[in-house]
Amino acid sequence: MRRCLDSFGRPKRLFTFVNPFGGKKCAKKIYDAEIKPLFEAAGVSITVQETEYRGHAREVATSLDLAKYDGIVCVSGDGVLVEVVNGILQRTDWEEAIKMPIGLIPAGTGNGMAKSLLHAASEKCSVSNAVFAIIRGHKQSLDVCTILQGEKKFFSVLLMTWGLVADIDIESEKYRWIGSARLDFYAVVRIMNLRKYCGNIHFVPAPGYEAYGEPIKQVKNFMVESLEQNGKSHPSSYPGPSVEFQASDWRFVDGPFVAVWINNVPWAAEDIMAAPEAKFADGYMDAVILRDCPKADLLALLMKMSDGSYVKSPYVTYLKVRSFKLSPGPLVGNPKKGGIIDVDGEVIARGEGTYGRSQHQDVMAYG
Ligand code: ADP
Ligand code: MG
Repeated sequence: MRRCLDSFGRPKRLFTFVNPFGGKKCAKKIYDAEIKPLFEAAGVSITVQETEYRGHAREVATSLDLAKYDGIVCVSGDGVLVEVVNGILQRTDWEEAIKMPIGLIPAGTGNGMAKSLLHAASEKCSVSNAVFAIIRGHKQSLDVCTILQGEKKFFSVLLMTWGLVADIDIESEKYRWIGSARLDFYAVVRIMNLRKYCGNIHFVPAPGYEAYGEPIKQVKNFMVESLEQNGKSHPSSYPGPSVEFQASDWRFVDGPFVAVWINNVPWAAEDIMAAPEAKFADGYMDAVILRDCPKADLLALLMKMSDGSYVKSPYVTYLKVRSFKLSPGPLVGNPKKGGIIDVDGEVIARGEGTYGRSQHQDVMAYG
């Protein structure tokens, strides 16, 4: 595939999604007032597609004629980016298609990826800085985490979470009208009525992080189970990268848990530095595990999320993992309520086991 990049690697033809529904619903206005004029001045030709419904960006990315463009841009929050990555990795030509750079211009509630990319380049997270990074053709490669859940396979670029953080992220949707403060507001509500979930986590630690948890005793049974799930769920005809779980060096931790939060990039939102040590393309995810914590300390942690210093709390365990398996049990005190598993802002399961593995897919992201 020939790309029309100028001698500095600058894109000349961009396919742009605008999500009129994201954030404060002003992505279209931002596009017309701030983005279009800059691209025009830089001589970049733009094909615009407004997203009309949930899943639309994914559908378009699955069939888009990529030879016509040098990159895909999302004027949105993280949700549309996730759809584009999943659409691309669903294609039969995914290995070639995933080389297409994807740019993000922050216009949603959750702009974790735009913030992560711009912060890494020592830039403020703003619409104009994101546009300039794209015009300059500044790129960063990015890992994708393959997530297996029952019959389903997802690709995650941001985070996967269960417990407190998932409940805040998903259940606060009903307060969308408040704007980004909905997360802070609902976090306080959830901390005051704190839930703990039974269950356990298995993981393959990155080198240097082997001290946490217990080595698993029944390696064989565990592997048979994970391989069966893998084989059953994913016929070889399913496009996208395959995933393998090796038998060696799995460890586990038993619950109950307040929260499990597994991150691919440092920022989960513009003002939430979830994983200060996370690297875009190191092949590992940064896991934050909270098993127990008094409410007053949890509220204090909430105040220290904007600079990532919350991870230094003695209640927080922070480690890098290559693969993980979440086996959520019920809410303590309510055996009927299983916890939400939230992948990049979408509920993929309630109370059901989920596997994940970080892989170098080299998604190129502008930033
Ligand atoms: P936010 O950060 O505010 O959540 P996103 O851009 O991430 O904003 O979008 C949130 C969700 O909106 C995405 O999952 C996407 O599928 C969905 N979406 C896109 N276009 C529309 C639309 N026209 N109507 C309703 N939902 C939409
Ligand atoms: Mg990483």
